[in-house]
Amino acid sequence: MNTLVLYLALGAAFEMNSGLGRAVFLDRDGTIARDVNYCRRVEDLEILPTVPQGIRLLNDHGFKVAVITNQSGIARGYFSEETLALIHQKMKDELAENDARVGAIYSCPHHPDEGCLCRKPLPALLLQAADEMGVDLQLSYMVGDAAKDVQAGQAAGCKTVLVTTGPEQENIEGEARPPDHVADSLYEAAEWIVKDANLGAAQIVEDDSVRSGDDC
Ligand SMILES: [Mg+2]
Ligand SMILES: [Zn+2]
Repeated sequence: MNTLVLYLALGAAFEMNSGLGRAVFLDRDGTIARDVNYCRRVEDLEILPTVPQGIRLLNDHGFKVAVITNQSGIARGYFSEETLALIHQKMKDELAENDARVGAIYSCPHHPDEGCLCRKPLPALLLQAADEMGVDLQLSYMVGDAAKDVQAGQAAGCKTVLVTTGPEQENIEGEARPPDHVADSLYEAAEWIVKDANLGAAQIVEDDSVRSGDDC
């Protein structure tokens, strides 16, 4: 093993020991659960097909999973914080029954007109989640069904996946920066993320051995 490859290997080992992991941040409505135009009651929550399997695949590959969701229905008076907590408990319970773990759920309860700092497309909740969960945003991903999810992920420094499981296809052609991938389900998004994360690591080693070959 030449010096540069050894240096890289030590660097990778140090990074693994630094305690910073990888996360996948998930939007809720249209991504995990059917978008019913304001989920106001616990019984309105319906988890989309392949979602538990997708989250489990991420769990199995060492990703922490957190939900980042805009819930302006609270500011609009459609449902209370207490009801939202019950809806989220049901979501976590149903996922757990399928061995899918969600570590934390971050919600913005504000109305869009309030100009808060936590509503997507702003990245504040992703930054907070990364800090509290001890993850490296550059190794993390944001998955959602809307342009504002992609924008929030990009602003936080994550890679992004747009899923087409929402109520309407987001037209992303006019966006300044497209998502890194478009998937037709959360499971397909998870498969792509797992592959992409491994490819990234392989690419670094390959590039380095090409460069370090010149030194020999
Ligand atoms: Mg959504
Ligand atoms: Zn907010």
